[in-house]
Amino acid sequence: MIKRRAKDFLLNIAEQSGALRFVQYLHHDVGNHLAVLAYHRVAESDSPLSRRLYDLVSATPRQFEEQMSLLATCFNPVSAEDVLDAVRGDKPLPSQAVLVTVDDGYRDFKDVIFPIAQKYGIRPVLFVPTAYVGGGIFWWDRLYNAITHAKYVQLDTWLGSFPLKTAEQRQIAFDTIANYVRMQPFEKALADVENLCDDITPKDSRSTPFTLDWGELRDLSKAGATLAPHTHTHPIMTHISLEKAREELRTSLGLLNQEVGDVLPLFAYPDGRDHAVNDELALMLKSENIEIAFTMSDSLSRIKNDNLQLFPRLTPYSESLPRFHLKLTSFRSA
Ligand SMILES: [Zn+2]
Repeated sequence: MIKRRAKDFLLNIAEQSGALRFVQYLHHDVGNHLAVLAYHRVAESDSPLSRRLYDLVSATPRQFEEQMSLLATCFNPVSAEDVLDAVRGDKPLPSQAVLVTVDDGYRDFKDVIFPIAQKYGIRPVLFVPTAYVGGGIFWWDRLYNAITHAKYVQLDTWLGSFPLKTAEQRQIAFDTIANYVRMQPFEKALADVENLCDDITPKDSRSTPFTLDWGELRDLSKAGATLAPHTHTHPIMTHISLEKAREELRTSLGLLNQEVGDVLPLFAYPDGRDHAVNDELALMLKSENIEIAFTMSDSLSRIKNDNLQLFPRLTPYSESLPRFHLKLTSFRSA
């Protein structure tokens, strides 16, 4: 966290002082480094609350288009196949290589992300939690919808009482409950959210955004998108047993192979931050023939001879274009 704050601080200084172009010049060639971008949703922000929702809206459509245009003109966007070729030692990546990845299979991928990426010749990877394909709702969206639409001015929960009179108060309630739930064992977290949300508002049509269905995912795959597993039910894998984690991978991979076919040996950890990843899980993924596992530690990846092949990803949330550019050129993997 301190490291991230320091990076943000340096980015602000660089942006404000005009040092940005100089730093970009110094890091003109990233060599054997690969920048992997991790997006979730690309959508208009209809309220301050939704803009900050669980860090889920990575960019507006306009920002995303500017970012893809920059990648196409100043970098070398690569495909998942290119990265696998480099990892296997078959063919090195070009300098300034960037891979675009998107998590969770929201409708935004079909409606906004893929058409824009395609326009710039970019082939994104979509990591799909297969239990939610064609329906279902992630717990954080259910919680968000419930708190947004709650008719109460006060919400009483097992964590205490939260006032809900203003958007800021609702944000605090959402953040506090979501942060607590995320750290619980997965089954308990789901049950806690369901119980709380059932108390606030029944399941109804407000449970948007929806996810893509298998027919749409097949069409996207045929059009050039790469689909890969992101577990079946999207648990934080360090919060479940190793055998359950293996089952999550196998179910997700099996469904993708059955419904879409020929899935590449890639995987993205749900959440993906340090607390959601460990060596035991990485070895399990390797034993299941996964060749690259993507995390979320906000640094550049390196092609390396490494058993675990963990590739960190950069999170381009709410970045100005100069900050986005700097992020791609100035960070080195640890
Ligand atoms: Zn995810």
